[in-house]
Amino acid sequence: MSTLILLHTETDGTLAKSALEALTAGLALGDASIGLIGESVQSAADSIASCGVKTIYAVEGEPFSQPRYSTDAAAAEAICKASNADLILAPGTARWMRALPGVANRIEAKVDSHIASITAAGEVKRWLYRNRMEGTITRTGRKWLLLVDSGVAAPWTGAPGRAQLTLVPVEPSPTRTTVLRIEKPEGSGQTIKPEAKLLLVAGAGWTKKQKDGQPHVPEAADLIASTLKLTGASLGSSKSLVDMGSEGDSVLPFLTHLHQVGQTGSSPRHPKGLATCCHGEEPHVVGWRFIQERRAINLDANCGWARKKADVLYVADAFEVLREVRKLLTS
Ligand SMILES: Cc1cc2nc3c(=O)[nH]c(=O)nc-3n(C[C@H](O)[C@H](O)[C@H](O)COP(=O)(O)OP(=O)(O)OC[C@H]3O[C@@H](n4cnc5c(N)ncnc54)[C@H](O)[C@@H]3O)c2cc1C
Repeated sequence: MSTLILLHTETDGTLAKSALEALTAGLALGDASIGLIGESVQSAADSIASCGVKTIYAVEGEPFSQPRYSTDAAAAEAICKASNADLILAPGTARWMRALPGVANRIEAKVDSHIASITAAGEVKRWLYRNRMEGTITRTGRKWLLLVDSGVAAPWTGAPGRAQLTLVPVEPSPTRTTVLRIEKPEGSGQTIKPEAKLLLVAGAGWTKKQKDGQPHVPEAADLIASTLKLTGASLGSSKSLVDMGSEGDSVLPFLTHLHQVGQTGSSPRHPKGLATCCHGEEPHVVGWRFIQERRAINLDANCGWARKKADVLYVADAFEVLREVRKLLTS
């Protein structure tokens, strides 16, 4: 079974961690080649030159610098056809999730996403129902395009070298979409950090009346922001807290819906998580399934975290705890 590992470079020409993870997963299957797409892919190819594949197919040029369905699909289709691989493995990035299902249709392949593991025998595990169930699937037909979730393999590491590229010519059709600039939701750019070791989750308790009978939202925002800065942690939130903004309530200024963790939010993969002022209800905690070590700070000894959902529950006032943590980290 021949395998194509289909990767795109980032806008700075490098390969993201998810691309290197897909590379590890694809190399394990044997008989692999690589497809690289981007504005200029030589330095990315050089960075993985020692990975031992027989061919690195490349489509490069300015039209392929930015994510855009028409150019990405044309480039990926050309590489898939040039390699004629049975199995095409790609990281499940936003860029590939958008372009590759259409490519699968063009090359008459089947496509599956959210892949959690693949064996050389062609048995695949994937997540279903927002990571609630893991299913095993096999397909007799080939070609098969698999979009792999991040975190399923260790990122490939190895010595750089000088890679030989097999350039695949692609004449992109005239585009109707021009990328002018990237606009990030306010705040999320700095506070959502998938690579951080710690996830700090803020719950609605931060905005509730405290023991003096008053809410202390500005202090809550200041404590959370300075803890994030001092620890380099990523920020997550409960649904209740992010929903408050849309109801016009006073909220933490840097929170967006992108921070929401849970059944209707994200399932981040940080090694450690600390929930603060968050009750730990099941629809929230289900988003913690990949967090390996879980701790929570809550005033309520009977909160959801106490029901075997956290490894450690600190029954304490999160304002007091984070004030103390800040003091320790700055002293
Ligand atoms: C279909 C469905 C989907 C859902 N999806 C999600 C989802 O994706 N993500 C999600 O988060 N929720 C989701 N929910 C909502 C979820 O059930 C809870 O309502 C929500 O998680 C509660 O948020 P919270 O814990 O921040 O707020 P609350 O329930 O209001 O809890 C606040 C907590 O803060 C504590 N507290 C207050 N002050 C302090 C203090 N000073 N120190 C320490 N602790 C303090 C309180 O004791 C309390 O436990 C979903 C619900 C449904 C029905």
